[in-house]
Amino acid sequence: METKEYLDYIANEIHRTIVATVDDEGLPVTAAIDMMDSDEKSLYFLTAKGKGFYDRLKKREFLALTAMKGEDTMSSVAVSIRGKVRELGYDKIPELFEKNPYMRKIYPTEESMQALTVFQIYEGSGEWFDLSKKPIERASFTFGGVVKKAEGYFITDKCIGCGSCVAVCPQNCIIQDEMPFVIEQEHCLHCGNYMTACHVDAVERR
Ligand code: SF4
Ligand code: SF4
Repeated sequence: METKEYLDYIANEIHRTIVATVDDEGLPVTAAIDMMDSDEKSLYFLTAKGKGFYDRLKKREFLALTAMKGEDTMSSVAVSIRGKVRELGYDKIPELFEKNPYMRKIYPTEESMQALTVFQIYEGSGEWFDLSKKPIERASFTFGGVVKKAEGYFITDKCIGCGSCVAVCPQNCIIQDEMPFVIEQEHCLHCGNYMTACHVDAVERR
């Protein structure tokens, strides 16, 4: 999937997310926030200026969020994002209400809507995790100019092909038909289990 598809999925398919910000003491605070719109490089949401959530966004201009869809754990897709936010103000509010008409039930009049302001998540990175697939499916993405880094576990040239790691991998995602062995990154749980199984220190975490 392309980055835009991940962002669209969050706004249109999942919509309800849990957003984490940090308070004045550096402690995490979560809030349930709907993602109201998306484009190829951003997500948009709104909040009322009187909320502590607004103050925390303005202070740090950064958040992390997780959006989940599925009836239970094993049927779930989870998408997580962390990135920078900026306040856009009121101008986009009518457009977001048009797209999300249920907001009229919460803020029914033009006057009450004046309490609201829009934020844009404009730069960040994300991770897609689909537990409904067997083996699981994982993917990462970036947006707003963030350079994508190779993160996870990797088998280096030190590998001697002993197979100890294969026995402890819960996803059977280590390819054994080439040297060094290779991890199928899109299926890896990042559990780290095989680090202890490898006696020649051939596994690297990046
Ligand atoms: S980190 Fe876990 S899931 Fe990934 S290859 Fe190693 S043992 Fe398998
Ligand atoms: S345990 Fe280490 S040396 Fe053995 S196959 Fe796995 S990565 Fe290679």
